[in-house]
Amino acid sequence: MRIGIIGAGISGLATAFWLQRARPDWPLTVYEAGPDAGGALHTEVVDGFHFEAGCNGFLTNKPDSLDLVRESGAGALLLESSAAARKRFIYNGELHRMPESPGAFLQTRLLSAGGKLRVLGEFLVRARRDGADENLRDFGYRRLGREFTDVFLDAMTAGIYGSTPAQLSVAAAFPLIAQLEREHGGLFRGMLARRKRQAGPGGVLTSFTSGVSTFIEHLRATLRAEWRFATAVEGIERAGTSYRVHAGGGSAEFDQVVVATPAYAAAGLLAGLDAGLARELGRIRYSPIAVVGFGYRALAQPLDGFGLLTTSSAGLPLLGILWDSSVFPDRAPPGGKILRAMLGGQRNPDIPLREEGELVALTRAGIERAMGVAAAPDTVYVKRWPRGIPNYGPGHLAAVAAVDAAVARHPGLALAGNSYHGVAMNDCCRNSRALAARLADVAGAR
Ligand SMILES: Cc1cc2nc3c(=O)[nH]c(=O)nc-3n(C[C@H](O)[C@H](O)[C@H](O)COP(=O)(O)OP(=O)(O)OC[C@H]3O[C@@H](n4cnc5c(N)ncnc54)[C@H](O)[C@@H]3O)c2cc1C
Repeated sequence: MRIGIIGAGISGLATAFWLQRARPDWPLTVYEAGPDAGGALHTEVVDGFHFEAGCNGFLTNKPDSLDLVRESGAGALLLESSAAARKRFIYNGELHRMPESPGAFLQTRLLSAGGKLRVLGEFLVRARRDGADENLRDFGYRRLGREFTDVFLDAMTAGIYGSTPAQLSVAAAFPLIAQLEREHGGLFRGMLARRKRQAGPGGVLTSFTSGVSTFIEHLRATLRAEWRFATAVEGIERAGTSYRVHAGGGSAEFDQVVVATPAYAAAGLLAGLDAGLARELGRIRYSPIAVVGFGYRALAQPLDGFGLLTTSSAGLPLLGILWDSSVFPDRAPPGGKILRAMLGGQRNPDIPLREEGELVALTRAGIERAMGVAAAPDTVYVKRWPRGIPNYGPGHLAAVAAVDAAVARHPGLALAGNSYHGVAMNDCCRNSRALAARLADVAGAR
């Protein structure tokens, strides 16, 4: 059984790993357009500062990334975030500590007394069970009130998706929240019921010594595959019961092909094979993000926390600022500090496309306003993601259902990646493992 995997981000690598575990004798070929593996998991070292281009790590409240790490023999590379990282902040024109307990919530100045009462009133709001694909803003206004939505949900969506509540579907982007209302009639009721069933600590943000690339390099070395780096696949066509993959001026045949690229790239590759499938893939939207990292050799201000998220009302071009060297002290050289800002997203989609110099200037001004840090950084790192994070808006689930139905017309073809059923590293690892199990079975039966 010849297997071709297209895209060596975490989704492609995890699919390859679990498939090789199940079927060690099946030859694997991995195509990657970029010069190395990892995709959005990439660490760049500049002047001794370790900047993450994208993903910072994963939460341990789900087992999916941890399983892959441990099973691939990389457990010793794991690095837990510092205790300081539990402290998070919101900037809405002023910097506030994010409340972590009911007592702190009652005291926070992020909401008025009326806003807090309205949140407590969530208990009394009748459940909506008509199956509508509601956006998170309407959901939040309905269940938790405007104030909470415009502060907490607004900041949270900026942090997770680089998006806004109005532009995300609750069912697609936050399936657990939708499920709590559906199954328990409300969020508080649902959380109480779940707490009774599953006691235990929440997850800890976890990464790897020296950054996520340490793990990617390990995973790559673990896999026995024919690696085709710097080789963008141009097209896939049917060849009897198998598929012919065109790349780098040549072609190769596979019995199973996994397209683990972003959906827009998959649309291009598959247009010749199935124009309808390509059209559905093209409906999946993305948020542009720019990452601007600053390294300071001797910054006077202490950094003690995970970082801050901004609200739209703050009027800053920054979605948030991660205090990376406080979260993972090994990211900066001794005595040094790192700040890493995210810009753009659905709030300001044009910003990530601007010149690097302008992004750096916007970031300096934003950091000064939100944190009072005016010092010039000693080292600067910029990474632009014109289509950074898939935006699971209203209509996303319908688009994915149409994609899944279209793919089912092509035995031996499968899609993987963050475009469909979850964007977090844990989601990618979970979905890729499930896909590998399916491929190992189905392909064996073909
Ligand atoms: C700025 C940012 C911050 C993030 N932070 C976090 C975080 O802290 N925690 C978290 O859990 N998640 C985070 N995420 C999300 C997470 O990193 C991604 O969802 C995940 O890494 C996606 O992996 P993937 O393999 O599905 O896709 P990708 O990483 O996009 O990999 C797809 C690969 O396909 C390749 N490719 C594309 N076209 C072709 C072609 N024609 N031929 C061959 N190869 C091709 C690409 O070069 C790429 O390497 C973040 C994402 C971004 C952008």
